[in-house]
Amino acid sequence: MKPHGPIPPGFAADEDGMLLIGGDRADTLTDMAGDTPLFVYDSAMLTARVAAWRAAMPAEVQLHFAMKANPYPPLLAFMARLVDGFDVASGGELKAAIDSGMAAAHVSFAGPGKRDRELEAAIIAGATLNLESAGEAARALSIAARNGVTPRLAVRVNPDFDLKGSGMKMGGGAKPFGVDAAEVPALVRRLIAAGADWQGFHIFAGSQALDAAAIADTQAQTVALAARLADEIGATPPLVNLGGGMGVPYFSSDTAVDAAAVGSALGETLAVRPPVLADSRFAMELGRWLVAEAGVYLTRIVDRKTSHGETFLVTDGGLHHQLAASGNFGTVIRRNYPIAVANAFGRDPTETVSVVGCLCTPLDRLGDQVALPRADVGDLIAIFQAGAYGASASPAAFLGQGSAREMLI
Ligand SMILES: *Cc1c(COP(=O)(O)O)cnc(C)c1O
Repeated sequence: MKPHGPIPPGFAADEDGMLLIGGDRADTLTDMAGDTPLFVYDSAMLTARVAAWRAAMPAEVQLHFAMKANPYPPLLAFMARLVDGFDVASGGELKAAIDSGMAAAHVSFAGPGKRDRELEAAIIAGATLNLESAGEAARALSIAARNGVTPRLAVRVNPDFDLKGSGMKMGGGAKPFGVDAAEVPALVRRLIAAGADWQGFHIFAGSQALDAAAIADTQAQTVALAARLADEIGATPPLVNLGGGMGVPYFSSDTAVDAAAVGSALGETLAVRPPVLADSRFAMELGRWLVAEAGVYLTRIVDRKTSHGETFLVTDGGLHHQLAASGNFGTVIRRNYPIAVANAFGRDPTETVSVVGCLCTPLDRLGDQVALPRADVGDLIAIFQAGAYGASASPAAFLGQGSAREMLI
């Protein structure tokens, strides 16, 4: 038997043992959707999550949603009313952000390899470009000049540190992201001299960290770096985007980030910030912390079989929707996501089984030797923490099984 990750708080069953999501039975939701597999996103949990973040953080810090975590249009439209801005990383995401109702002035566009037509779309819309290189800055300035528009430009800084304990390091050393800190002051002076509307800094050091002290330490270093760069430039950055990094507990040894501890440390950091940042605004950009927990992936068992003494529950879902839960999205050691039998939710486990997907590859494993209550063909398996990097971060075209349904309730 291998452990699985913790079921997020707030999920319960009705008297039949059926998992409830947003107060609705899981089987009612799959009936409403017409079929499995299905991603369900609970809007009440999204609202609660944003409220919890705001309660924990200093009031002056704005909240941006990093929409690559979940670009499902109804969810974006819902989030657009809850958060202060969207961070996008492609022309397609820029369009989806604007279509969701988020004002372009509150959209920032980071990411390496922006093509000229993507730069042009952002500049014309009035979104902020988080510039990733001197070459990109030059292209943005000439596209803006050609269009007769003053571009809103921020510089993404490749910091000289990374976020300790983070699952994905995005800063420190040689990186395709951002401009090395040492080269930032000269670049910003060139932007200002060229007449651009300089928006400040974007400093993102890592993702999926659970240790509040490590996040707080990185944020303090980020504020100090922003102040050092601003002093060298001789101008106050209007906005310092501090990045994100707050992760969620996927695996059995994980515990939730202490958001209150992150918030109080950030409050102290900002209270004693250097004078050059006195009039700056601050933002954090979060993806998974805001949306992962609100999502549940429901997949139906189509076969139950044994092989060499091991029981397999074969489902109609798989890694083509849940690459991360299968352990194939940037993880080194495969571990089990939180998993349950949706129609026997909260019941004691009676057997050890492996839950696999329907793809003809040994990579397609959703639960490896997990202890679950007995489940049979037709029953529903639920995978939790499914609201981020699920449907849009998985190879839906692989093996022709098609996309999962999605539903915001
Ligand atoms: C992916 C990404 C995020 C969001 O990361 P999460 O771990 O989902 O919070 C934030 N900022 C940038 C620049 C990113 O690339």
